[in-house]
Amino acid sequence: MDRIVVRFGDLILKGRNRNVFVNILFKHVKNALANYETNIHKNYDAFEIEYHTENEEDIKKLLKDIPGIHSFYKVYTLSRDINECANKAVEYIKNIPNYKNFTYKVETRRSDKMYELRSIDFSMKIAPIIIKQTNIKVDVRNPEITILFEIHKDAIYLSLDKSNGLGGFPYGVSGKALVMLSGGIDSPVSAFLAAKQGLEIELFHFESSPLTPLEATQKVLDIAKVLSKYTINQSIQLHFVSLNELHQAILTNVVDSYIITILRRMMYRFADRYSKEHNIDCIINGESLGQVASQTINSIKTITNKIDTPILRPLITYDKNDIIKISRQISTFDISIRAFNDCCSIYVPKNPAIKPRINICEIEEAKFDYQSLIDKIYNNIITLEIKPNTDINICDYGLEFNEAINNYVKRD
Ligand code: ATP
Ligand code: MG
Repeated sequence: MDRIVVRFGDLILKGRNRNVFVNILFKHVKNALANYETNIHKNYDAFEIEYHTENEEDIKKLLKDIPGIHSFYKVYTLSRDINECANKAVEYIKNIPNYKNFTYKVETRRSDKMYELRSIDFSMKIAPIIIKQTNIKVDVRNPEITILFEIHKDAIYLSLDKSNGLGGFPYGVSGKALVMLSGGIDSPVSAFLAAKQGLEIELFHFESSPLTPLEATQKVLDIAKVLSKYTINQSIQLHFVSLNELHQAILTNVVDSYIITILRRMMYRFADRYSKEHNIDCIINGESLGQVASQTINSIKTITNKIDTPILRPLITYDKNDIIKISRQISTFDISIRAFNDCCSIYVPKNPAIKPRINICEIEEAKFDYQSLIDKIYNNIITLEIKPNTDINICDYGLEFNEAINNYVKRD
């Protein structure tokens, strides 16, 4: 069997939580690779995965999506003789297609401190031999390929394909978050960043069909499928809040310039209540300062003045281009740009308040009995469990959300 070493970085893992972190990450790796025949060993500062060569690409792809993994690489097991190591390295390098087109750097890590050479001396001694025999180009700052030697007690490992993992923390070690997920570009990126930083995430979506089309709901389902890849059980909860009745009441009763502000205040009331009732530590959204009227600092303050669950905004200072870059990397971008409006964009007033005032919100809200609408809607939240391979096309099941979901659930 071949072997991959997985590293989780030691900076973050010091102290009492180390074992907890490592065990969670170990479980995540095991779950992610469950469909392949492997042996996975837990060492002090790394995992070693033995696998069959034909699964290598699949396994590497799965490791790329696991929060808390800092790097991973395939290793060849060599003897502890430096000349033999050099010869083997030359052989493996020459096997890389077009190996002369890349730049290289030699790196050594000595986990057996009793070995006769220090890491730096090992590198200094072996590098010239390898370079002489291969004529490869060296770039120690930004190499395309790192020739990594790891000195262990009974062998030396050689690796030529070190890749960076996601980094961050093992899934769930930072607590639990409710992500307000729209079908837009930003909130899926926020969800991803939260999961990467070790938050367990549940997704909370407001839909307003038939005011909003079911295609907008489908976007959220497809985004949830992507996000489920990052979770420890390859599965994520997606909660649907059907706002329609409340949405209509807002459109009828509230002065134009405050419609979005009030709609968003209502959204946070749901998210806050859900978080409290389900022991969720924080709410996450995709807000970025100044992007739209509801994301000025004044709006943010007014919209959330009654909310005491902490609200985290991973993207608050991000430039749109940087957000788009991440959304392309995680493949939510193409889903997000499908042109269907969700409930925040279905009716945007000509002059939304950019400095909305709390006392005016209270006056507007007093015009209708929002609390009983909230209670009614809250009691009808629908939850789906979404996995990477969940096969659902909601538009096949009806025109309005509740009808479609019921038909979907009853489909077999
Ligand atoms: P996004 O690209 O994430 O939709 P946006 O720039 O379009 O963001 P808004 O529509 O103002 O901004 O929404 C700001 C944030 O509010 C979103 O990032 C999301 O977290 C939350 N949000 C907006 N609409 C919904 C919705 N229908 N369901 C759940 N959360 C929502
Ligand atoms: Mg949006």
